[in-house]
Amino acid sequence: MAFSKDTKRELARVIPEEWCCRIAELSAYYDFDGYLFGGGKYLDFYHFTPSVARKILTLIKAAFPEVETQLLVQRARARKNQVYTVRVPVPADAWKVFDAIRGVEYADQERKILALSCCRKAYIRGAFLSHGSVTNPKKTYHLEIFTEKYEVARKVYHNISAYWLEARMTSRKGDLLVYLKGADDIATLLNLTGAHHALMQLENVRIVKDMRNRVNRLVNCETANVEKTIQAALEQIDAVEKIQRHMNLSDLPPKLAEIAALRLENPYATLKELGELIDPPISKSGVNYRMQQLIKLSKSLG
Ligand SMILES: [Zn+2]
Repeated sequence: MAFSKDTKRELARVIPEEWCCRIAELSAYYDFDGYLFGGGKYLDFYHFTPSVARKILTLIKAAFPEVETQLLVQRARARKNQVYTVRVPVPADAWKVFDAIRGVEYADQERKILALSCCRKAYIRGAFLSHGSVTNPKKTYHLEIFTEKYEVARKVYHNISAYWLEARMTSRKGDLLVYLKGADDIATLLNLTGAHHALMQLENVRIVKDMRNRVNRLVNCETANVEKTIQAALEQIDAVEKIQRHMNLSDLPPKLAEIAALRLENPYATLKELGELIDPPISKSGVNYRMQQLIKLSKSLG
């Protein structure tokens, strides 16, 4: 949880430079938890996190310096924590902000704010701060944004996908979930939204994880190969020794006698190495074929 909280705390401090981006981010807060009440008497944004509520207030003031705002604190009935309401109480102001936010969607294609990359980032940041979380990368790579509104989920999905990230959508207990599973994708999203400190933490965890995996893979791979080689050599030596108890190796066909003798003389050699000891050298599979003949013969000897 701490990682998610820290990421949000970091993002709550990011105030976009451009007017278009401020509106785009506000439109995300509106999409998730905003309401125009009483036919436009006032406009409310709800949030449970004080730092995000303050951010919404800052964004409104930055985009509309002349607009009056209020910050109300209420205790939520269903939940124990407090709800922060950012209110635009004057109808004319409420409409002004509301129109700008709606304009994000309803402006014609050329002016469509969410077609701009800078604004997409701002929208994603707003969506993540509204209903998002990211798991500590030490545990697993997972970032999600949820909402019960289908249109909003689609919008989030669409905006994340615009960056070629492999966003997926699913439902969970009546909510729609847009999520990312890839470490690369999560890193990109953190970077896009401006969570640079969180990104650094993620990258550090990744480096350590990758290194550990690589070392483990190498160790496993080498141990497995060595064990396999030793196991096979032991089986071959057993076979040859059993044959020796029944006959002289020189009684075998010359090619088999040769490889049998070499096996006994070089217990640690791989098949490839044994093949190189023969004159002229033979391939690994050639050696293997002869070994199988020897093993078959030894088994027939009972
Ligand atoms: Zn913008």
